[in-house]
Amino acid sequence: MVGGGITGLATAYFLRQSGLDVTLIEAGDSLGGKIQTLELAGVPVEAGPDTFLARVPWAVDLCRQLGLGDDLVAPATGKAWLWIGDRLRPLPERHVLGVPTALRPLVRSAVLSPAGVARAALDLVLPPTSAGPDPSVAAVVGRRMGRQVVDRLVDPLVGGINAGRADMLSLAATARPIADGAARSRSLVLGLRRAAPGPGGPVFLGLVGGLHRLVDRLAEEAGAADVRTATTVTAIATGAGGYKVECAPGPHVEVETVVLTVPSFAAAGMLAALSPLSAGHLGAIRHASVVTATLAYAPSALARPLEGAGMLVPRVEGRLITACTWSTTKWPALAASGMVLLRASAGRDGDSRAMDLDDTELVRRVHGELAEALGLREPPQASLVSRWARGFPQYDVGHQARVDAIEAALAADAPGVLVAGASYRGLGIAACVEQARRAAGLVTAPGPVAAPG
Ligand SMILES: Cc1cc2nc3c(=O)[nH]c(=O)nc-3n(C[C@H](O)[C@H](O)[C@H](O)COP(=O)(O)OP(=O)(O)OC[C@H]3O[C@@H](n4cnc5c(N)ncnc54)[C@H](O)[C@@H]3O)c2cc1C
Repeated sequence: MVGGGITGLATAYFLRQSGLDVTLIEAGDSLGGKIQTLELAGVPVEAGPDTFLARVPWAVDLCRQLGLGDDLVAPATGKAWLWIGDRLRPLPERHVLGVPTALRPLVRSAVLSPAGVARAALDLVLPPTSAGPDPSVAAVVGRRMGRQVVDRLVDPLVGGINAGRADMLSLAATARPIADGAARSRSLVLGLRRAAPGPGGPVFLGLVGGLHRLVDRLAEEAGAADVRTATTVTAIATGAGGYKVECAPGPHVEVETVVLTVPSFAAAGMLAALSPLSAGHLGAIRHASVVTATLAYAPSALARPLEGAGMLVPRVEGRLITACTWSTTKWPALAASGMVLLRASAGRDGDSRAMDLDDTELVRRVHGELAEALGLREPPQASLVSRWARGFPQYDVGHQARVDAIEAALAADAPGVLVAGASYRGLGIAACVEQARRAAGLVTAPGPVAAPG
C-alpha cells in the first residue's frame, strides 16, 4: 500500500482481514492524509473533511465494523445562504445540487434576477437539448435553465464540493443525480422532480471527537501490518517475485502487488518508467488548491445571532472566501470552547489567491469578508489555517474515460499494480472506502470487479 490516507488505511484493513501480509508506506510523519483533526480554543476542529456521506453504506459500515457505530453523529442542519451582492440570500428550498425543482421558492429567495427566473422557467417548455456524450455540468444545466442558475446556484454547490468549475466538471462524474434527472425527462425540473425519494436519516455523519478517530482505529487494526511513515515512494519497478517499491529513505520493498492510493500526480511520477501510458493519463488529472481557516470569535463579536448553518459564495462574486460553515452551530459540542467558531474555505480551480497569502494576511482578509457578510464587530481571538496544495482532484469532462484508460494501461503494463483513492472514482471519504474495498477485492481475487458507481 502506498499512501496512508483513508484509502490506503482502509485497503490495508480489508487485506489484513483476509490474512494477507501488508506493508503500508506513507510519506508524511503521521497517517490519515487529508483527514486531520486538530485543536482550536480547546476543542477538536477538522482541518480537512468533517463528515462523510451517510446515504451510501461504505464509510458508515466501516465505522460500525471498527466499533465506532455509537459515536456516529449527525451535524445540525439549518438554512444555507448564498452571499450575492451586498447580502445573504437563502438557498432556495427544493433543489438538487443547486438545480431548482420548484419555481416559487426560487422567486422568493431573490437569488436570481427576474430575467434569470424567466430563463430558468423556460426549461419546462424548451424542446429536448443535447449536450454530447460526456457533457460538463454547465453545458447541461445552462442549456436548460440559463447561466444564472449555473453561476449562482449550481457552481457554488457542485463546484464547492469539488473546488472546481461547473464549466469544466463532468456531469456524469460529479453530479450523478442531475445526470439521472436529465436522462429521465426532456425538462430538467420535471426529471429531477420524478426522482425516487431518497432513504430517510441524515445525509452526512461525523464522529464524536473528530474523524481522526477513524484513522486511529484503522491504524490500530493495521497493527500487525508493516507501517512505515516518513518514507516516500519514488518509483515502482519490476522485481523478483513481482514489484520493487523504491523508497527514500530506503531500503526498497519487494512485493507481489502494489496499491497506489496517493494522488494521481504522485502515482504518475512513480510509474513513469514502468507504465509511461498510465503515467501520462495520471499526470493529466488536474488538481485545485484550497485553504481552510477556522476563526474563533468571542460571542460579543456577533452583532446579531447567526441564523442557519453556513453560506456559499458564488465564484462570480469575486470574493476570496468560497464558503463558510458556522461550526459551533453545525457541531453543538464545539460550544464547549466558549467561542463562536467559523470555518471558511478559500481557493478553487482557477483561483489561487488564498494560497499566495501568508497566514496573517489570509486571516485578516477572511475576517474582513466575514465581518462584511455577518456584521462581526471584533477580530478573531484565535485561528487555524490549513493549506491543501493540489488537494482537490478535478473530475473534468472525460474523467471517467481517463480512469478507465489508466486501469487498462496498468493491467497491460503492470498487472498487480492498482490505483485507488480520491483522484479516481469519487473524492469523498465514502467513495474512497468503496474504492479500498474494490482494490482489496482485486488483490485477493484478481479478475473483473464492478467499478464503483
Ligand atoms: C479541505 C477538505 C475538505 C474536505 N471535506 C470533505 C468532507 O466533508 N467529506 C468528504 O467525504 N470528503 C471531504 N474531502 C475529501 C476527502 O477528505 C479526501 O478526498 C480523502 O480524504 C482522500 O483520501 P485518500 O486516501 O484518497 O488520499 P489522501 O488523504 O490524499 O492520502 C494520500 C496519502 O498519500 C501520501 N503520499 C503522497 N505521495 C506519497 C509518496 N510518494 N510516497 C508515500 N506516500 C505518499 C500522502 O502523504 C497522503 O497521506 C475534503 C478534502 C479537503 C482537502
